[in-house]
Amino acid sequence: MTKRGRNRTHFDFHKPFFIYVPLFVFTIFMVFSVCWPAEDKQLRRLKIPETSAGKDIIVSWQDKVRSELSKKLYLPDTKPESFAAKQLKKNENNGWVLEEIEIQSTPGRQIRVCMGAPADIKDKKFPAVVCIHGHGGNRYSAFEENQTLYHQFGKRLVERGFIVITTDVGQHEVYEKNRTLMGERLWDLIRCVDYLETLPFVDVNRIGCAGLSLGGEMAMWLGAMDTRIKATVVCGFLTYMDQMERNHCMCWKFEGLREVVDFPDIYALIAPRALQCQNGEKEPPDQFPPSLARKAWEEIIPVYEVLGAKDRLELVIHPGGHEVSIEPMLKFLREQL
Ligand SMILES: [Zn+2]
Repeated sequence: MTKRGRNRTHFDFHKPFFIYVPLFVFTIFMVFSVCWPAEDKQLRRLKIPETSAGKDIIVSWQDKVRSELSKKLYLPDTKPESFAAKQLKKNENNGWVLEEIEIQSTPGRQIRVCMGAPADIKDKKFPAVVCIHGHGGNRYSAFEENQTLYHQFGKRLVERGFIVITTDVGQHEVYEKNRTLMGERLWDLIRCVDYLETLPFVDVNRIGCAGLSLGGEMAMWLGAMDTRIKATVVCGFLTYMDQMERNHCMCWKFEGLREVVDFPDIYALIAPRALQCQNGEKEPPDQFPPSLARKAWEEIIPVYEVLGAKDRLELVIHPGGHEVSIEPMLKFLREQL
C-alpha cells in the first residue's frame, strides 16, 4: 500500500497535536469574534444628523465636525508672517504663462507651487482653481500633455480664463513634528488659497478646487475644511472608508478619523457650497465604482436640500475609468465660480 493510500484510510489519533491545537485556536478565535466589542459600534460617531432636525442643527453639526477633524489632522494654529515668495521658473506659452514659485507654508517649511495664468491679466480679476494631482503625480501633472488621466485639466482651465495653482501632495512622510500626513497635505493646499488671496488679479470670492484620485480626496478635504472654497470638483474619490480599507494605499487614514466620520460626512461639510463628484463606469468594483458613489451620494443630497442648495450639487457618472471627465468639470466650474 502506498503512503497516500494508507493516509486516506487510517486517521492517526496518536498525533492529537495536529487536531486539537488548531481546534483550540479556532475555538478561541470564535469566542473573541463573538464577545469582543464590534469595531463598528465605535465608528462614525458624528454621522450626518437627520435633516428633518433643520438647517440650524446641520450648520452647528458642520462646525463641530470641522473642529474635531481639525484637531485630529493636527493643523497648525499659526501662519508664517509672509510668503517670502520666490519665482523659480517662468514659461510663456501660447496665450498663457506657467510659473513655478516657492512660498512659505509653515514658519519652518517652504513649498513649491505652479501657477498657470492667461497671458493678459492686466487690470482684470479672474476666478481661480486649486488643481490637485493623484498618487504618482506632481505639481506639473495637471498641465502636462502626457498625463492622460488628468486630460490637462489645469491647462484647460487656464484656457477658459481661470488662474490655476498646484502643489505637491504625493509625499508619504510627515515633514514636521506633531503633524499628520493628511494634515500637512491639506495645510499646503490651504496655503495655496492664502497665496491666491494676495494676488491682485484673483477674485477672492471665486476660488474653487478640483482633483483626481488622491487629488480628489484632497479636494474633498480642502472644500470641507476651508470655507473660502466656493466650488469643489472631486474625480474618482466618492466612496466609503470600508472600501478604502482594501486594495488601496492607506495614506487616507489617520488616528481617530473613522471614529468621527465616513466620507459622506466629510462631503456634507462642503454644503451649501457647490460640489460635483465624478465616477467612471469603467472603475473596477474594488476601486471607485458608481454603485458605491451613488450610495454615498444619497447621504449627501438631503444636507444640500435642507440648506437650499440642491442646484449646486452634481453627480457625474461618465463612461470612462479612473480619470477626469473634462467637459463636465469645465462646465460646472464656469457656472459655479
Ligand atoms: Zn498613499
